[in-house]
Amino acid sequence: MAKFGKVIIDIASSLVDKVFDYILPYDIEVGTRVLVPFGRQVKEGYLVEKTDVSDYDADKLKQIIKPIDDFVVIKKDQFELAKFLKQKYNIGLCDSFRLFLPSEMRTGKVKELVSKVAYISDDETAKAYMANLRSTATKQRAVLAYLLEVGEDKCSKINAQFGAGALKKLIDDRIVLVREETVLRKPLAELSAKPNNVVLTKDQQRVVDTISTKTGKYLIHGVTGSGKTEIYMALMKKTLDQGKTGIMLVPEISLTPQVVANFRARFGDEVALMHSALSAGERFDEWRRILLGKAKIVVGARSAIFSPTENLGLIVIDEEHDGSYTSESNPRYHTIEVAEKRAEICGCSLVLGSATPDLETYHKAIVGEYHLLELKERINKKPMPPLEIVDMCAEVQNGNNEIFSERLKTELKNTLDTGNQAMIFINRRGYASFLMCKDCGYVPKCQNCDTALVYHKHDNALKCHFCSARYKVFSECPECHSKNLKFGSVGTQQVVEEIEKLFPGTKVLRMDNDTTSQKNGHYKILSQFRDGKAQVLVGTQMIVKGHDFPAVTLVGIVDADQSLYQSSYTATERTFQLITQVAGRAGRADLQGKIILQTYVPRHYVYRLASGYDYLSFYKKEANLREMTNFPPFTKIVRVLFSSDDEELAKNSTKVYYDSVKDLSLKHSGQFVYLGVSKSPVGRIQNKYRYQVLMRLKLEESDDIITQLYRLCEENKKNNVSCFVEINPQSLS
Ligand code: ADP
Ligand code: ZN
Ligand code: ZN
Repeated sequence: MAKFGKVIIDIASSLVDKVFDYILPYDIEVGTRVLVPFGRQVKEGYLVEKTDVSDYDADKLKQIIKPIDDFVVIKKDQFELAKFLKQKYNIGLCDSFRLFLPSEMRTGKVKELVSKVAYISDDETAKAYMANLRSTATKQRAVLAYLLEVGEDKCSKINAQFGAGALKKLIDDRIVLVREETVLRKPLAELSAKPNNVVLTKDQQRVVDTISTKTGKYLIHGVTGSGKTEIYMALMKKTLDQGKTGIMLVPEISLTPQVVANFRARFGDEVALMHSALSAGERFDEWRRILLGKAKIVVGARSAIFSPTENLGLIVIDEEHDGSYTSESNPRYHTIEVAEKRAEICGCSLVLGSATPDLETYHKAIVGEYHLLELKERINKKPMPPLEIVDMCAEVQNGNNEIFSERLKTELKNTLDTGNQAMIFINRRGYASFLMCKDCGYVPKCQNCDTALVYHKHDNALKCHFCSARYKVFSECPECHSKNLKFGSVGTQQVVEEIEKLFPGTKVLRMDNDTTSQKNGHYKILSQFRDGKAQVLVGTQMIVKGHDFPAVTLVGIVDADQSLYQSSYTATERTFQLITQVAGRAGRADLQGKIILQTYVPRHYVYRLASGYDYLSFYKKEANLREMTNFPPFTKIVRVLFSSDDEELAKNSTKVYYDSVKDLSLKHSGQFVYLGVSKSPVGRIQNKYRYQVLMRLKLEESDDIITQLYRLCEENKKNNVSCFVEINPQSLS
């Protein structure tokens, strides 16, 4: 047995990751959480290594007090992954470890749910005891009779049925014994579906065969409704058959009861569910089931990539383009990068799927980093539903200033008249709103960056989120001199009211942040809609993801342009993805569907290509544009953000940092496509002032430069200023 154990103490953001030596009281497995004396305190830590020698004086070393759990929490492959996270995202090992266990465990707030079960010690003794009972002891007699019949039952149930006193007396007299049982809470337990014995189509089978032949990285580009879920399930089945485990990631929002029910139907209790809507207890129990190997398939949102699966055989990421795979709060990580690494460590395949792959991912497929597999047809062989573009400028010119165009009104009426369902989509991404001319569709752009300016109501100005340039708000369109300008966007509530006004008596459901805040809120709304309790569903991004509603024949997109003018280099791409995903909701079953898209810039290429469902042309055009203008995936955008409640301090730290980056840029000549320093577009959040250094790097030396940037952060560390490095951030606020 080894004598010493190296322990990482669980202290937040201790980048130094100091490892402390302790004496092992007895053999404890590496990866176990332990309690250790630390100074005058007792702290939690992770045992990361066992050795026979210590560099320290053994007499002065203290002893590990005891293990916290009776199981290993950081398994070997997870430890490898933690090291990668540390290096890649510049976080401490301890911060990485935290990703691997339910947060509630660390705070000690969850425990196993224990249930007390009563049973009879010995039938003969019990019968004799019963015979000797006084005639008035009817309740005790009843309990005994019951237990003699059923053998055992939960104390809580017996107490509820016969009254608490009766059982207690029997327990006191040792006629009835009690034992404790661990109960595993099962989220959405009521959900199940009949297994559907689908036979894979030729296309699906081809994809499954290709992937199962060779371990590697795959991208399935399949149109909406091409049956990707069946492919994932077939692959998971093969993985289980080989005695291995799998992780299936889906965007948080599309973890619908349908997905869960489908997986449960196919794989039963071997499925564990991991997402943020679980209660602390449920999450802990599901995590335990995975850890103990009782659950072999994890279905979950992005953090499920850290699940304690043993013998991992497959990772699937559905809707891989989805923004929720990027963690934008600490620790910041990109799920796909993490998944690539985990697949590499475990020697298993990684399968990404989407109808609209992220431009970066598709680029990787084009250059051969991923095997590309295409599914061009829907399962039912139906063509994609026609997408009609409505010019809202023309509507305004014709005197219609309402939310709905004449076309959308007519189609909505037809849909309601024929008893079908409609979905109305409000495009709401982030907080950004822009200024736009209602007559000609003109949107002001930054002179330096060619990105749309964002309107800041707070200080009544237009700002560029890329270089932070400020512009005055104007009251007359510089192009056509119209005074008919509009700010911002319509809300879901407004749309609901409009529908109720136009079509009295219509049942409308609304799905947005307000209506889904309670537990399982969005599940409830979706199932109501599915059950036909309403004819129209109005919603934001939430209604877009992977839902299958057979009766939906009309999809209306009220303000497609909203996401187009976000100041992010991905704005056009996101718009294309959104439209394709929304459109994919229509006409999935036998009924023909239709999409009406309202825009003020009907001739924009994104709408032309989206209406033809032409992903490839869109990819080519967009990639070409990015390459010419030096944006990702051809460069990397890096933002280093400083924030502090002391404005001068934030400003000065940023300035000092900028100067060192300038020196760095001289050493890496030609690698910096852009380098600038400024106040952040949103200059103050929660009373913290924000300043930033923004840069774009060529790819060749970018990894090296980013390591240097992290190092500079460490070197310039000051009290009361925090510093974050973000790589290709999705939004710059
Ligand atoms: P995607 O995820 O590619 O948008 P889905 O996996 O939701 O597509 O599949 C669309 C529909 O087709 C679903 O209702 C699914 O049950 C059905 N489906 C998939 N594969 C088959 C098959 N081989 N035979 C019959 N129906 C299928
Ligand atoms: Zn104009
Ligand atoms: Zn600019």
